[in-house]
Amino acid sequence: MKVLVLGAGVVGTAAAYYLNQAGHEVTVVERNDGAGLETSFANGGIVSAFTARPWATPEVPRMLIKWFGRQDAPYLFRLRPDWAQWRWALKFLRQCTRERFEASHKVSLRLSTYSYECLKEVREREQIEYDQCADGVLHLFASQQELDTAAAAELRHPDSRFHPEVIDMKRCLEVEPALAASAGRYAGALFFSQDESGDAHKFTRALAAAAERQGVTFRYGVTLRRLQVDGGRVTAVDTDQGRLEADAYVMSLGSFSSLFLRKIGIRVPIYPLKGYSVTIPTEGHHGAPRLAIHEGSRRIVMSRLGERLRAAGTAELTGYDASISATRTQAILDVTMSVFPECGDAAKAERWAGFRPMTPDCLPILGRTKFDNLYMDSGHGSTGWTYACGSGRVIADMVSGAAPDIDLSGLTADRF
Ligand SMILES: Cc1cc2nc3c(=O)[nH]c(=O)nc-3n(C[C@H](O)[C@H](O)[C@H](O)COP(=O)(O)OP(=O)(O)OC[C@H]3O[C@@H](n4cnc5c(N)ncnc54)[C@H](O)[C@@H]3O)c2cc1C
Repeated sequence: MKVLVLGAGVVGTAAAYYLNQAGHEVTVVERNDGAGLETSFANGGIVSAFTARPWATPEVPRMLIKWFGRQDAPYLFRLRPDWAQWRWALKFLRQCTRERFEASHKVSLRLSTYSYECLKEVREREQIEYDQCADGVLHLFASQQELDTAAAAELRHPDSRFHPEVIDMKRCLEVEPALAASAGRYAGALFFSQDESGDAHKFTRALAAAAERQGVTFRYGVTLRRLQVDGGRVTAVDTDQGRLEADAYVMSLGSFSSLFLRKIGIRVPIYPLKGYSVTIPTEGHHGAPRLAIHEGSRRIVMSRLGERLRAAGTAELTGYDASISATRTQAILDVTMSVFPECGDAAKAERWAGFRPMTPDCLPILGRTKFDNLYMDSGHGSTGWTYACGSGRVIADMVSGAAPDIDLSGLTADRF
């Protein structure tokens, strides 16, 4: 079957790879000059295989109030005269109950653990290197009470694979000596030894190259304009370089998916939640962590990517405004340098912003739409690097008429 994959982020690239493996004739259309150059470019790098969780938690409304009006707040809602944004914000806040969080959390772990297996298999098969670190992720907590609460919640999980090691600062320093300068600020950590980190962009680029060698066509520098539909099917896509036709279409345009779908009468609540990262060169410095870190008080993640330290965080509901805020990136840089003062050259840090393609329940939308031959692989939010390979595999199975390996309840569009 001829399949057109729309978008070459980590999600679309993974789908294209698996569709090709399943024997389809695959073309990927991407407006940039390469794969993984938008949201998949400089994200936090964490593969949250055992810790993927929705951001819509019961604590969020309280945090929004606590940080209200502060430019350096981890969560910032800048409401605009945009009905889609207000509708999204209300739906997101409605998700912030204990019951709904727990239901989505179960679904997120089902997909993240499956996706992790897929990632391991692909990197092994294709010999992909992406500055990965498979030694675990350390979640730091400033107070004993926060640590105890978080530990109790994690240890309630019936499956011990999801249980972290609860460690004090003495043990923290054994697993991550670079914390020596800031150890006094933390009470301890949860150590998820099975989670990983790595550069999503390097992975995407290498996977695209492998897919291309195996027969996938990447049409870079081509901008999609609209989908053409007729009689319950997509018949073509219009681009700035003419019309492209296929038997099946995979929507993986990240935050832009909803804009395209709206034009053909499909409403999906995928909205951009902007985040920032800073990437600090570590060459010649000896204070950068080896392990990936989750800094609990400011909700910032840090990943060691070879000779770089990437720190990422913050969530800004501000529409499709891609500008990079100096205040917000500085806040990430300041926290990183205060935890790891000798990690690298802060003056040379690269600042970046990306749109998390977020749904209100923070889970992606996978599977068929009301158009028979149009499949969704979008809305991966804050965890798209983690979910990408599993999602791609699911879509390839569906397009091929095979049953996916995992139950898709909670992941299809009809939940909204
Ligand atoms: C600050 C930050 C930190 C993050 N940290 C993590 C993390 O630690 N772990 C994790 O798992 N996830 C993380 N994420 C989330 C993850 O980066 C995203 O979920 C993921 O990159 C989404 O991938 P995607 O392929 O859906 O979207 P994208 O990478 O944005 O891909 C969509 C593609 O569609 C293309 N496109 C759009 N419109 C058009 C058009 N009209 N014509 C042609 N092409 C078009 C774009 O150019 C783009 O390449 C983070 C995100 C941010 C912003």
